[in-house]
Amino acid sequence: MGLYDKFSRFVEERQKFQVSGVNPFGTCIDEIYSATEGRIGDKRIILAGSNNYLGLTFDPEAIKESQEALRQQGTGTTGSRMANGTFGSHLALEQEIAAFFNLPTAIVFSTGYTANLGIISALATPDAVVIIDEDSHASIYDACALGGAQIIRFRHNDAKDLERRMQRLGEKAKDAIIIVEGIYSMLGDVAPLKEIVDIKRRYGGYILVDEAHSFGVMGEKGRGLVEALGVEDDVDIILGTFSKSLAAIGGFAVGGKGLDVLRYCSRPYIFTASPSPASIASVRAALRQVGQSTALREKLWHNAHRLYNGLAELGYKLGERVSPVVPVMIESKEVGLGMWRSLVDKGIYVNLVLPPAAPFGMTLLRCSVNAAHSDEQIDTIIRAFAELKAE
Ligand code: PMP
Repeated sequence: MGLYDKFSRFVEERQKFQVSGVNPFGTCIDEIYSATEGRIGDKRIILAGSNNYLGLTFDPEAIKESQEALRQQGTGTTGSRMANGTFGSHLALEQEIAAFFNLPTAIVFSTGYTANLGIISALATPDAVVIIDEDSHASIYDACALGGAQIIRFRHNDAKDLERRMQRLGEKAKDAIIIVEGIYSMLGDVAPLKEIVDIKRRYGGYILVDEAHSFGVMGEKGRGLVEALGVEDDVDIILGTFSKSLAAIGGFAVGGKGLDVLRYCSRPYIFTASPSPASIASVRAALRQVGQSTALREKLWHNAHRLYNGLAELGYKLGERVSPVVPVMIESKEVGLGMWRSLVDKGIYVNLVLPPAAPFGMTLLRCSVNAAHSDEQIDTIIRAFAELKAE
């Protein structure tokens, strides 16, 4: 058997999607002009499918500080946090994140993926009971597999189902680790965290919240869903990424004093190089912006409402609530692909998401807005979807 033979069905399937035009999976954005515009082939496009929620990728302060770090500290750390890859700026950022959350301890990782992998795998040992939302991000599933824990899944955003599973655990419930996300990346919906906190109060256990898509987006200060719902005292660890609202690359965990020990027990912390000084510097600049002003968040939510309402009026089937992530639900992969290509032709890039990346066998045209989109750009996106209806 050839080395790649087992992938032949997958290759055939992908080829069907690549008969003409641009490749929806790994689309090359040939040039990037701003947080909202780029070029694909010969088309100037509006970027309506990214995670750049606060639109900070071209923030002048972040760029300036990043360039300065590049000049002063070089292009990379060439080592892991545990060896030679912890610079003063990594520790300064950890302190700034901890202060931002009013918590004692933060740990910086190389990506959001490795933050989840590192923290969750260290806790999710074979003797642990881990209960996760069935629509959890791949990094959460992978972390549980790496740690060796047996996972229990509860129905997506269904607190009653979680409670039933906690009940069945009996005595063990008091040590259960419950993991949910703030905003879910594909459907844009949020975890019923108040109910989940109530379950924790009655049965015991611990709560971890991945705020990858809600950090900088929700809460008065931008700390995420946990802040927005006022349940900060009831959540044990918050996980996050630098690759979305903070517009760079890296990840973090923040929590109580005890969290610090996980550095020494986390393979994805120990065995990978730390984030580059340039990335750390731009994150520090972006974090200051998240904390200092609510203007970006207000603009983001204005844009979210504008796009959601515009697409809803056209009769598209959308996610259940207004969110910066606006999934347009499509009846089949083939229709989804045709619409995606047509949108690129009209100068709009959105994410085409198929199962298993899209949950529950769905095909999604995942649109997302950011704080840098203008009203005109949002209206152009809506117009393109209106033309698709007409076609
Ligand atoms: N958690 C969630 C919920 C995510 O959606 C993602 C990325 N899409 C990650 C973690 C991983 O973050 P990163 O891309 O920074 O590795």
